[in-house]
Amino acid sequence: MFKNNQLKSTIKLLSSKRFNTMSLKPLVANDVKITLREQSKLNKPIKNEDLVFGKYFTNHMLTVDWDAEHGWHTPEIKPYGNLSLDPSTCVFHYAFELFEGLKAYKSLKNEDDIIMFRPDKNMARMNQSAERICLPEFDSEELIKLIQKLIRLDADLIPKGKGYSLYIRPTMIGTSEGLGVHTPDKAKIFVICSPVGPYYKTGFKAVSLEATDYATRAWPGGVGNMKLGANYAPCIKPQLEAAGRGYQQNLWLFGPNKYITEVGTMNVFFAFKNGDKKELVTAPLDGTILEGVTRDSILALCRQNLDPNVWEVNERYLSINEVKERAAKGELIEAFGSGTAAVVSPIKNIGYNGEDINVPLQEGKQSGKLTEDVMKWIGDIQYGITEKPEWARVF
Ligand SMILES: *Cc1c(COP(=O)(O)O)cnc(C)c1O
Repeated sequence: MFKNNQLKSTIKLLSSKRFNTMSLKPLVANDVKITLREQSKLNKPIKNEDLVFGKYFTNHMLTVDWDAEHGWHTPEIKPYGNLSLDPSTCVFHYAFELFEGLKAYKSLKNEDDIIMFRPDKNMARMNQSAERICLPEFDSEELIKLIQKLIRLDADLIPKGKGYSLYIRPTMIGTSEGLGVHTPDKAKIFVICSPVGPYYKTGFKAVSLEATDYATRAWPGGVGNMKLGANYAPCIKPQLEAAGRGYQQNLWLFGPNKYITEVGTMNVFFAFKNGDKKELVTAPLDGTILEGVTRDSILALCRQNLDPNVWEVNERYLSINEVKERAAKGELIEAFGSGTAAVVSPIKNIGYNGEDINVPLQEGKQSGKLTEDVMKWIGDIQYGITEKPEWARVF
């Protein structure tokens, strides 16, 4: 007798005409082949104060090829360097590309410990993105092990101190050659790592946003919930337009109700008061929102740490008009963006229909109180000060 899920997977296997799933080799971390960069060519650590986001890279990278006939090839860790691809490769023409962004932190408690923050969430999301654009899926835990090996090798380049970390960029591309538009029969994962400093060098710097309804980042039935490279290039021009009017980022609105979705490439939170009660709101995951790991972590920590007699934490639709009306009534308390790079990014005002909606900040500070608390709660877990083994992978 088959158990129900065994039966399901057998049916899936039998119905997979294209690939003989049975004989496809899975991704296996222990097979990794390591080639070290020559001693004389090794990069030295960059001074903390000289770090620029995404500019410097570590000495090694990870690559793993895949093809539809054999499955995953031997993973390789090798000196950081160029890729060589035929100009007809499908990634260049039809955007078979997806990526992830996560970080590794030097523990502030135990010198030798390195901590990755919820990498299982990033790997799950990476597999979802892959599935959506017909690129191969892989065993998340095996890729985490490989990334840990890569990071250990260049551990001397991870900057130390709160706000400093190693930004990890796993990427997958379709590498089939030829101009036909079809399922890629070849793919490549590569992972590169960049030592980074705090997003805001001198503490928070609150940003001003332009509520954007003349361009749409994502839509129902689209792929806004996937980290596909194709989602990002079209967002630069609206950002330049907003910048021309003096705003740093777009607050992406959607639809006739002008619902708030995200800010730039971050999720977004608004806090309101209503008498003695307070509410924290972020957009629901309806397929138009990137399912941020930081967003999820903030929701969980706020539900855990905020007094439930005062605070309600809601994932619900929120229109720019509601924000405007409640700001006018003095009910808007604070607002911030959330994402791996900055963790939280305080918002100070929002341009909408030629007027500015002012977002309160604490007296003499560049953020609201909750923004500050959230930053501390998450930072303390990332740097090993607060123990939370379900989230902090120490290695
Ligand atoms: C990556 C990303 C986020 C934030 O996700 P995290 O997992 O928290 O880093 C939010 N919105 C968009 C559009 C993104 O690409």
